[in-house]
Amino acid sequence: MPALEAGLADPATIAMYEPVIGLEVHIQLKTRTKIFSHSTHRFGQSPNSQTDPVVLGLPGALPVLNQEAVSLAIGASLAINCRVNGFSRFARKNYFYPDLPKGYQISQYDQPLAEHGWLDIRWEEGSKRVGITRLHMEEDAGKTVHDGYSDSPRYSYVDLNRAGAPLCEIVSEPDMRSADEAVAYLNELKQVIQFSGASDCDMEKGQLRCDANISVRRLGDPEFGTRSEIKNLNSFRFVKQAIQYEIARQVAVLESGGTVFQETRLFNTARGTTTSMRGKEDSHDYRYFPEPDLPPLVVTADRLASIREELPELPPAMRARFLEQYRISEYDARVLTSSVETARYFEQAAKSAGNSKAAANWVQGELMGALNAAGKNIEESPVSADALGGLVALVEQGTLSGKLAKQVFAKMFATGKSAKEIVKAEGLRQISDAGELDGIIGKILDSSPKQVAQYKGGKKGVLGYFVGQVMRATRGQANPRVANQMLRKALDG
Ligand code: ADP
Ligand code: MG
Repeated sequence: MPALEAGLADPATIAMYEPVIGLEVHIQLKTRTKIFSHSTHRFGQSPNSQTDPVVLGLPGALPVLNQEAVSLAIGASLAINCRVNGFSRFARKNYFYPDLPKGYQISQYDQPLAEHGWLDIRWEEGSKRVGITRLHMEEDAGKTVHDGYSDSPRYSYVDLNRAGAPLCEIVSEPDMRSADEAVAYLNELKQVIQFSGASDCDMEKGQLRCDANISVRRLGDPEFGTRSEIKNLNSFRFVKQAIQYEIARQVAVLESGGTVFQETRLFNTARGTTTSMRGKEDSHDYRYFPEPDLPPLVVTADRLASIREELPELPPAMRARFLEQYRISEYDARVLTSSVETARYFEQAAKSAGNSKAAANWVQGELMGALNAAGKNIEESPVSADALGGLVALVEQGTLSGKLAKQVFAKMFATGKSAKEIVKAEGLRQISDAGELDGIIGKILDSSPKQVAQYKGGKKGVLGYFVGQVMRATRGQANPRVANQMLRKALDG
């Protein structure tokens, strides 16, 4: 939350109200080409290099529906438990903006692809089911570029590379009651869509964008308040900040006797505030009508069944399997299914390690810590899943102590070498062999007559001192359990 500004209610006053939140999420489908034409929509290409007559809205150019986009949208619909309609329709949403050459966006309106879905969400304080009203397909608009050019303050430029990119819009019911719930919903949605294969949901590339609808009502009030809509939030942190700000702002407006207007607001990322952009349009402002250039979208029962059959395992099912198969905690299962890549990595590491609980700990602890510090994704990990499994196996066999294993891991991460190679090259194995430790222990006892006398005089705590000496003499390589036993035997005997 940014510093409180004038016009924001304080927490005690906010607590007398209940926020109501519904989210509209746009997700870019992972196709090679655009939704109604043949040009590609790769990210980061030079401006207007990915256009064609359909995208440019040239007279006579006609849209043809990308069937791969439809299949991905159907998969996404199933992943969010929607009912897929056998018959849906495209519609024109008419508005003027420089990044929309045709003067209308092809979307779906009264007959969307899918409806009546839900997702189960969990956040710090609770869990619930959030309803999903609908999923519909539409084309993306282009981008207006306001900076980066020498004449930037005076001119804006239009880049149509993104225009016509295939999107699905997922509209939730107004079922969320706090910013934390909204973020939990987004996390779950992002995960299931990623796992379904419909999209990578990479927010930095604009593949997942969120509009947040927010209203507040006094506790116990049966009616919803008037909502504002905050457009185009492109990170979960911004979603949270924007919702918290908006709740505090609306409560302050109502408390001062004012009214909340139905409006579209923009989030100012630098200040953490929202500002009014325009009065919110109603759907009749868009003059929707059925798209005459496209036939209705018919999804046969066969097609639906085969997409359902080929759908990969989704996070809820995978979490349940992990609990059962690997005997790990619910929390661990959640972390390890946070992305397809993490889940794949963990399963492979567990297989190589032979101890899944230990593998789970290493993935979540050392590995994720090192990846975070290096700013790397798990796919870019210098330590492969098999290599991590190999390290865990060495600990399991007693070749490495936990402490040594951490040193070895750091070297694996820095060099990409296997645990075995490093252990061999550096002689880093754990010494558990009594024969090897015997001489070292003898020397230590000989050179510490004072401590030996103390021990024999009943001060058993001195044992820790001797173990420390053994560890030091072996550069940390002695097996502390074995050293402990041997010391006891030598001193007590
Ligand atoms: P529009 O296209 O005008 O934004 P939609 O019906 O597509 O309208 O989306 C409305 C979104 O706003 C949905 O996510 C819905 O859950 C949410 N919503 C509707 N009424 C309220 C309200 N009073 N407070 C908060 N959210 C609301
Ligand atoms: Mg909207």
